[in-house]
Amino acid sequence: MKSNLQAVTEILKSKKSFLIGGHVSPDGDSLGCMCALGIALERMEKKVVLLSADGVPELYSFLPISNKVIKTAPVRSCFEVGIVIDCEDISRLGQVEEAFRSCETIIEIDHHPNLDRNGNLQLIWPSAAAAGEIVFELLKNMEVRIDADIATCLLTAIMTDTGSFRFSNVTPQTFRISAELLEKGASPSKIAHNVYENRSLSSTKLLGAVLSSLQTTDSGRIAWASITQEQLATIQASEAETEGVVNYIRSIRGAQVGVLFRECPDGSTRVSLRSRDGSDISQVARLFGGGGHRTAAGCTINHPLAHTQELVIDAVRKWMGS
Ligand code: AMP
Ligand code: MN
Ligand code: MN
Repeated sequence: MKSNLQAVTEILKSKKSFLIGGHVSPDGDSLGCMCALGIALERMEKKVVLLSADGVPELYSFLPISNKVIKTAPVRSCFEVGIVIDCEDISRLGQVEEAFRSCETIIEIDHHPNLDRNGNLQLIWPSAAAAGEIVFELLKNMEVRIDADIATCLLTAIMTDTGSFRFSNVTPQTFRISAELLEKGASPSKIAHNVYENRSLSSTKLLGAVLSSLQTTDSGRIAWASITQEQLATIQASEAETEGVVNYIRSIRGAQVGVLFRECPDGSTRVSLRSRDGSDISQVARLFGGGGHRTAAGCTINHPLAHTQELVIDAVRKWMGS
């Protein structure tokens, strides 16, 4: 739907107040895009509020203007435009969904393949490796000058959603855009330092605890691990610090699917699914009301950890035909 690029450009140029948000448990893509758009629109002297139900994990606090992201909607304020980024459904905004629904116009910017959307206007490009690629094209179309701050936000979005250019979603365009972001002042080594080499002691201990729970099926084709609230409390780590751990599980030789189970404070279980051979693991996530991409998907299941583990591993086995 590149055809909407001009329509979205015109709205962003002409309207004056914007509420910008991304999904719960935010990642580098959702936050990078929010901040990049926020910088651009503020520079155009628009009223901008950045809203993320789960705030900003410390890991991403290096992103320019991430300190302006708030967790609850400002009371009695209304916005002409709500921009929803990196969400395959508006409900992925979590508790701040209502604030966006009360905006006059909702624009969705996303690369999840779901084309059945509720917003008023969409920029949905499933071939983009990250929503950051779409925001890049949008800013170019708006003739916004991409400075080092915007470039840092967008390269963070792209690096984190591609596993630093390792995943199958990477295209020549991903590199073209990234090269331009480097020319504008983004530093991949600084971003990598902040995102991957700045782990707290607690999150590194947490990695050890998660990996020591590793299990595989007899064939070794499905590998999974889990983390409980009790372990989080003992190590004094937060759930956000388990981000990225699923990639270790997926990287085991012979494993085609990696799964991470996280016990949530309310007793439900958050499930992260990763596949390796390009097969569509989001089909499994969807069975449980979740979603995602072909190779990275997730869901939250309203059952305790052990039962969820049984349900999901059983579903993955069936999905693999074994
Ligand atoms: P995660 O494992 O949380 O990093 O999520 C991987 C992918 O699955 C992301 O693209 C998410 O948007 C998607 N995803 C995760 N949890 C859910 C959910 N509860 N509902 C829909 N999509 C989800
Ligand atoms: Mn995301
Ligand atoms: Mn994304």
